[in-house]
Amino acid sequence: MTAAQLPMLVTVTATKPLTERMVRVTLAGDSLTDFDYAGPDHLVRLFVPVVPGEPTLPVTTEWWPELRAMPEATRPVLRNYTVRRLDRERRELDIDFVLHGHGEDSGPGGTWAANAAPGDKIGVLSDGADYRPPAGTEWQLVVGDESAVPAIAAIVEQLHSPAVVLIEVADAADELPIAVPEGTTVTWLHRGAATRGDTALAALRERDLPTGTPYAWVAGESALATGVRRHLVNDRGIAKDRIYFCGYWRQSA
Ligand SMILES: Cc1cc2nc3c(=O)[nH]c(=O)nc-3n(C[C@H](O)[C@H](O)[C@H](O)COP(=O)(O)OP(=O)(O)OC[C@H]3O[C@@H](n4cnc5c(N)ncnc54)[C@H](O)[C@@H]3O)c2cc1C
Repeated sequence: MTAAQLPMLVTVTATKPLTERMVRVTLAGDSLTDFDYAGPDHLVRLFVPVVPGEPTLPVTTEWWPELRAMPEATRPVLRNYTVRRLDRERRELDIDFVLHGHGEDSGPGGTWAANAAPGDKIGVLSDGADYRPPAGTEWQLVVGDESAVPAIAAIVEQLHSPAVVLIEVADAADELPIAVPEGTTVTWLHRGAATRGDTALAALRERDLPTGTPYAWVAGESALATGVRRHLVNDRGIAKDRIYFCGYWRQSA
């Protein structure tokens, strides 16, 4: 068993606003030298403290029952985030958090990130990556919303085959600079007051896609992920095993 399979306690060393609604938090910890980074959408489970101070973390691989057994008032809350950058030598990683909502509309993850300051502690458990273009992929389609921007930026940066990238955000203020390799187009779509996911789906429907064998990676609000996948399977005839899709969060009713 390596440290990478256990929750690790890490410390905030820096925070940097990327946009009005996204903040980058740099986390450092000795156990990050063992972090088993597996790809650009590498998922970590954050053990977000709900009371001031260091969160109590599970200490075995049976972390779930251990967590459930903790007193509810102080039990850290689990949230899913993407590793935006890992630097094993410096023993640090960056996570880019969407700052959604205010007060009661916000959640523990967004609220923690909005208030994070150097010295704050949080728990990180490495989970793994899902972005895996199969052999024979000739072009890629990447679609997502703000919550998927950290993964999309990391995916785009490492691309070696042509790609069409569609990112649905609220407005131009949410756009971030991404290093785009030749052969890839990144289109930022502004939803404004439209229902989440509708703008990305409408843009995709109108798009002439490349010919050849595709791989699609789709993530974001649940309706965006399922709507795009349905279109790709039903209207574009893309094989299900060439599509990764994941609802990163669910809009409350
Ligand atoms: C594999 C994976 C990777 C992810 N990577 C990232 C990442 O790198 N960065 C990131 O910011 N998020 C990421 N997410 C999404 C993140 O886990 C969710 O947004 C999560 O709900 C945030 O937790 P919270 O405590 O802030 O809000 P919650 O307590 O979960 O929700 C509180 C309220 O906020 C709403 N809400 C939740 N998330 C959003 C949002 N993004 N926009 C608008 N409203 C929202 C909910 O509908 C609910 O009404 C990822 C999710 C998955 C599954």
